[in-house]
Amino acid sequence: MNDFERMAELLLGHIDKTPEYYENLYPTRDLPEGARVVRIAPSPTGYLHLGTLFMALVNRITADSTGGIFYTRIEDTDKKREVEGGIDDIINGLIRFGISIDEGFVFPTEQKGIYAPYKQSRRAEIYQCFAKKLVSEGLAYPCFCTAEELAAVREEQEKNKIRTGYHGEYAVHRNITVEQAEALIKEGKPYVIRLKSPGNEENRIFVDDGIKGKVELPENDEDFVLLKSDGIPTYHFAHAVDDHLMRTTHVIRGDEWLSSVPKHIQLFKLLGFKPPKFCHVAPIMKLDGGAKRKISKRKDPEAAVHYFAEEGYDAKSVIEYLMTIASSEFEDWRRANPTEPRQKFKFNLKKMSVSGALFDGDKLNDVSKNIVSMMNSDTVVEKLTDWAKEFDPEFYGILTKDISYTKAVFAIDRDCPKPRKDIAKWNEAKDYSSYFFSELYTPSFEFPENIAAEDVKAFLEKYIAIYNENDTKEEWFGRIKALAPELGFAAETKEYKANKEAYKGSAGDLSTILRIAVTGRRNTPDLCSIMQVLGRDECLRRLNDAISNI
Ligand code: GLU
Repeated sequence: MNDFERMAELLLGHIDKTPEYYENLYPTRDLPEGARVVRIAPSPTGYLHLGTLFMALVNRITADSTGGIFYTRIEDTDKKREVEGGIDDIINGLIRFGISIDEGFVFPTEQKGIYAPYKQSRRAEIYQCFAKKLVSEGLAYPCFCTAEELAAVREEQEKNKIRTGYHGEYAVHRNITVEQAEALIKEGKPYVIRLKSPGNEENRIFVDDGIKGKVELPENDEDFVLLKSDGIPTYHFAHAVDDHLMRTTHVIRGDEWLSSVPKHIQLFKLLGFKPPKFCHVAPIMKLDGGAKRKISKRKDPEAAVHYFAEEGYDAKSVIEYLMTIASSEFEDWRRANPTEPRQKFKFNLKKMSVSGALFDGDKLNDVSKNIVSMMNSDTVVEKLTDWAKEFDPEFYGILTKDISYTKAVFAIDRDCPKPRKDIAKWNEAKDYSSYFFSELYTPSFEFPENIAAEDVKAFLEKYIAIYNENDTKEEWFGRIKALAPELGFAAETKEYKANKEAYKGSAGDLSTILRIAVTGRRNTPDLCSIMQVLGRDECLRRLNDAISNI
């Protein structure tokens, strides 16, 4: 046994498995040519972020477009940052947004797949096995520096304007002998295991990033930590071991990791692994006072995915919108394929924004209005009541008092070839529908100023006399038109426009008067349908109420 092997036994003597054991246990995947194996590796540190959802979507569509696999792996190596229920929030969140998971944590309490365990805290022995290999080859060593010692070195480096970190002459335990290590261990000194980096900061490495293209970076010369003093790996080491053994082909992750690529490439090489294709995604940005900045967990409510649920955005709308951020080609594809599932869209990582796409709430609303407009009334009522039950119980009570009435309300100008696009999120539905519900309705008697009060009154009185709740749309408007001449109004807008002095207004103005009297608004969906849903008694009550308020 040489000294390196003795060191490996000293540090990791309890490890009896070899790297070959794991290579066999986790075989290469038998997938068609070009299929990509991708993953997200979230840490259970809180609620599901928009950034994580976006990253999951980009990975999911990469797998979909290539007939590949999308899996989840939980990075719970930082126990201090972990929150109770963090996994549930993330996995349930993905499921709720329709991001299907092929492997890994497919449910908060269920792992699927032969590359298990998919939770890093349960893979300690695997990392230790590969760390042992590196130590036995003289590529890693124990470092006994205390936090205070490291802080003092950093201070000195800062003072002397030297790049901070554990490198070169500052890597004081680089050449520690087995005997020295043994003595320190006997004294009970804690230690970490560091990589003995063969790199030189002066050298450049070239990476062909799947999104950013050619990137040039300095070689890594830092003896960074592989295993912490509790035997748990750092992100860097776990990433290399896991993505290799889980046979990831493309590591698609946030671009905050781009500067760590030299470390990762070095690790893959020293471990004898083929590196995956790295693809670094720019964060979603926000416009703040004219300047672009990253969406912030502290400043922006939409950073937490829960916000969208609370506002009442349909999961499909959020995903459809994120698709437009993920690919500038998606909107054209969607126009050409309005009803195809998004899974059919051929996604190309190279088309992603390099600088970070802007989050645009107005665009989200437009996308969402379109999606809601395509839902039939049963779906709308089901989703709306589900939302209201959780976020607006008072409205829920109103909506569910007479569900067939509620369905009739939301069927107006829906379930037809050209549905209206006026609801983007369920928290707008209360205002949208308020005049249908006595608990929410406030009448308005603000009739158009250009029409005299006595004309308004005369029209409403005459209308009551001829009102027939069984009219078709044409008959309904026909009656208003028929009334127009005797009240001094033009039956046709054209006539009125051609000779304004001759008329008090047009039949269109009369229907506005009727609309205000019945709904309190100037703008609504089809008024004839509204009146049918409200019913004769309620319409007459409102019309008479309006007359007595003029
Ligand atoms: N836990 C890391 C993060 O959330 C994962 C990065 C990766 O995908 O490798 O940033």
